[in-house]
Amino acid sequence: MAKARRVVILGSGSAGLTAAIYAARAQLLPLVIAGSQRGGQLTLTTDVENYPGFAEGIQGPELMEIMRRQAERFDVDFVDDDATAVDFHRRPFQVTAAGVVYHADAVIIATGAGTNWLGLPNEQRLIGHGISSCAPCDALFFRGKEVAVVGGGDSAMEEALVLTKFATKVTIVHRRDRFRASKIMADRALRHAKIEVLWNTVVDDVVGDGSLTGLRLHDVTTGEAREFRVDGLFVAIGHTPNTELFRGQIALDEKGYVVLKRHTMTSVPGVFAAGDVHDARYRQAVTAAAWGCMAAMDVEKYLEGH
Ligand code: NAP
Repeated sequence: MAKARRVVILGSGSAGLTAAIYAARAQLLPLVIAGSQRGGQLTLTTDVENYPGFAEGIQGPELMEIMRRQAERFDVDFVDDDATAVDFHRRPFQVTAAGVVYHADAVIIATGAGTNWLGLPNEQRLIGHGISSCAPCDALFFRGKEVAVVGGGDSAMEEALVLTKFATKVTIVHRRDRFRASKIMADRALRHAKIEVLWNTVVDDVVGDGSLTGLRLHDVTTGEAREFRVDGLFVAIGHTPNTELFRGQIALDEKGYVVLKRHTMTSVPGVFAAGDVHDARYRQAVTAAAWGCMAAMDVEKYLEGH
């Protein structure tokens, strides 16, 4: 039997949980479909030192537990399972999770995005132990060390430039002979005294027992393979938004990100989006939380008018 809700929130990262806190305090009794891997990308990080309010820093998973507890203080219900289907063509909207169909007057999509990793044999084991995908979060841990960045887009340039503030040397490893990044960003990186580029070079694997100590590289033009000593590796080869479920339901851009039409509203009035699922630019826990707040406030206004 279908269960009726005013608002259903999909996702339990910092966008989804912030939306839940705001929606609950607006007496909207939100239901959060938290996903089977609740807590979002922050649960995959270690130290978070740039989330305001935690002067000593905090572990990513702990921060998400605190946000969840904060939401649980109010009238928020959680389903710790994945949404398996949505129907935004009919009203009320339908969201299916754990075999139950929920009817909702409004929906907030906060399903986030995932880092694209290289898929190397030893990569997953060393994430958080020398391998990162977020220089603004982790650059500080590489003060006085040598690091590499993989990728040739704007993200890779930005990561490399952030890292120059701490590392003694930053090597960008790129698989082609030119960058995809905008000219201004590429020039900035290429001109930087601490940045070197290994063109036409692919990472075959990462090396290190407890933490990363080097990369196994090969040159795609000569075929030459070698080991390259580094203390850190930043993977910046793009992200993939978690939007497969919404294909054909709301407008997505060519990379799959949700397109916002007005404030946080998607192409379907009543369906809102918050966080990395639509924001490829900032991708920070604090910006995702802010988007969650905005989406909940937009939902409140929308429901007042309906
Ligand atoms: P992107 O533009 O898609 O670039 C990804 C880069 O990673 C490309 O250079 C690609 O190589 C490389 N790559 C992809 N898969 C790889 C693999 N398996 N192994 C090795 N290299 C791989 O992604 P992005 O840099 O994350 O940027 C995403 C969007 O955000 C872009 O629109 C960008 O302009 C924007 N952005 C803007 C700013 C800014 O304005 N400050 C900052 C960050 C991001 P190829 O070039 O060979 O394909």
